[in-house]
Amino acid sequence: MIVRSRHFPRAPFHAINLCGIVFVNTRLGELTATERRHEQIHTWQQWELTPVGFYLWYVAEWAVRLWCSRSASGPYRAYRSIAFEREAYDRQGNAAYLRERKPFAWMCYLRRGA
Ligand SMILES: [Zn+2]
Repeated sequence: MIVRSRHFPRAPFHAINLCGIVFVNTRLGELTATERRHEQIHTWQQWELTPVGFYLWYVAEWAVRLWCSRSASGPYRAYRSIAFEREAYDRQGNAAYLRERKPFAWMCYLRRGA
């Protein structure tokens, strides 16, 4: 499900997936097919861990990766290093991915690097 708004999420964020509902800031345009697939991957991840488990893991992994980061781009780099994001960015360009994806595929992205 996609909910369009001119105010949420706040720029620079274009979309956010909360419990499988994708909120899109229409001031930044509609989502592309690639961006929709990125959010669908997050929806699958949330179903696997339940939304509460997903967000707890997401924030904890971001905090650990931020703590380990030592650069000015730390917050963004930590975000891009989260296993959930790594899977979504890595596979968002593959139109067949959601049909091929194995449960808990994000766990393959838990290695330390970005
Ligand atoms: Zn994402």
